Amino acid sequence: MTSILSDLPIAQFIGGNWVDATTTMPVRNPATDAEIATVADGDDSTAMAALDAAVAAQRDWADTDPRYRSDILARAFHLLHADTERIAHTITLEMGKPLAEARAEVAYGAEFLRWFAEEAARGRGAFFRAPSGGRRIVVREQPVGPVFAITPWNFPLAMVTRKLAPALAAGCTVVLKPAPQTPLTAVAFMRILAEAGVPPGVVNCVTTSRAPLVSARILTDRRLRKLTFTGSTAVGRTLLTQAAQGVLRVSMELGGNAAFVVLGSADLDKAVGGAVLAKLRNAGQTCVAADRFLVHRSRAAEFTERFLTAVSALPVGDGLDSATRIGPMIDGAAVQRVTTLIDEAVDQGARLYTDETATASPGHFLRPAILTDVDTRTRLWNSEVFGPVAAIRTFTDPAAALELANATDSGLAGYVFGENLGDTLEFAENLQTGMVGVNTGVISDPAAPFGGMKSSGLGREGGSTGLAEYQEQQYLAIDR
Ligand code: NAD
Repeated sequence: MTSILSDLPIAQFIGGNWVDATTTMPVRNPATDAEIATVADGDDSTAMAALDAAVAAQRDWADTDPRYRSDILARAFHLLHADTERIAHTITLEMGKPLAEARAEVAYGAEFLRWFAEEAARGRGAFFRAPSGGRRIVVREQPVGPVFAITPWNFPLAMVTRKLAPALAAGCTVVLKPAPQTPLTAVAFMRILAEAGVPPGVVNCVTTSRAPLVSARILTDRRLRKLTFTGSTAVGRTLLTQAAQGVLRVSMELGGNAAFVVLGSADLDKAVGGAVLAKLRNAGQTCVAADRFLVHRSRAAEFTERFLTAVSALPVGDGLDSATRIGPMIDGAAVQRVTTLIDEAVDQGARLYTDETATASPGHFLRPAILTDVDTRTRLWNSEVFGPVAAIRTFTDPAAALELANATDSGLAGYVFGENLGDTLEFAENLQTGMVGVNTGVISDPAAPFGGMKSSGLGREGGSTGLAEYQEQQYLAIDR
């Protein structure tokens, strides 16, 4: 299966060319720990070459007709769809998720190309008389300028298209730095963009194991105008500090710690189905993963038992095996980190319902675990788990459950299940999160604004406002 990787370039995509690297870095399959490829390992000179190319292409790209950019994005959408099997296998090989989930990621990731192909063609702006009557005001949108995009490993394709599609639609050029664990999907996507007709220099890709070095080099260059980052809150904070020096526009999609609330009126078929999806998609390695389960006491025993039964039936294994429903963790450190969170919670009084021990394999597997009676002071309760572990507490007073759900710095996603429409919607509206799943465990939709409140981020991706993240307003004052 690794043969599908054999024709991928071991080079950086800069100025429309594949530029050979002086050094390379390995890419490993988390299901086997085997090295599956090597890619170029960029340094600060690669970073500068990529930014030079993006800056050189910016003016001409901004001047293209919106319909021209729209047509290129539409072609990229169709090419990506046609290449679904190859891209999905690449995602599974370097990231581990089950092939069915990788295919779903290709479909989801491609939708951003289609959505922003359509958005690119929509004219925006304003022309009106000033209230004083003395002048006319013209407001126009223009691309913000060269963009630096940094993406995580958990959705190697979709996190890239969610940034590049609106940037290109708006007329921005881009330097992309994918995660070092998953550079292959990004490289494969560069080929698709070139085939779709993206001109040289408009998109550039630097694969590197030296993110802080490469990133600092680009961020300190005054020609850069925007940083868009998806990743952990800790790295996001560092990057915000660096971006402040250049007063860059920023979009930050950071970590979550979602509450999953089962109200007394919940339909448990929906709640259990939603819990499996919200907790175990991507082996729990999603930013919107449900971490803190708050279940009404009257439903807790049945919910926990049914959730446990559903989870225990999910085979853990290599994502290329069609029976697998839960793939590996990204690496051994992730297994260790999550195992420690479980052990600490058990030491502090939680009851563990599944055996969390890693399967005997060179791969980085972790059995799903459910814990009840989890103390609110544990790290398991208070941090983003990023693994297949559900921490459950019960409540009797919904107001207390709401307070607990909101008692976190994170504000990315939340979930509420209930059949009493008024109560359920009121609960959802009072959650301090950018997104809420109401009777559903899957939130993401390219047509909706994705993003977080509080320390989960700044800005929104997708939806009708997604384009504005890459646009600057200019106002012309026209006196009579
Ligand atoms: P991470 O923050 O470790 O890395 C993300 C990216 O930043 C990678 O490309 C990495 O190489 C780069 N990076 C790391 N240190 C850097 C530095 N000092 N300077 C510049 N770049 C640096 O995150 P991860 O482990 O790849 O991804 C998991 C995290 O991403 C989780 O916290 C998850 O919640 C978050 N995430 C958020 C969203 C969202 O939309 N809010 C989506 C997916 C993932």
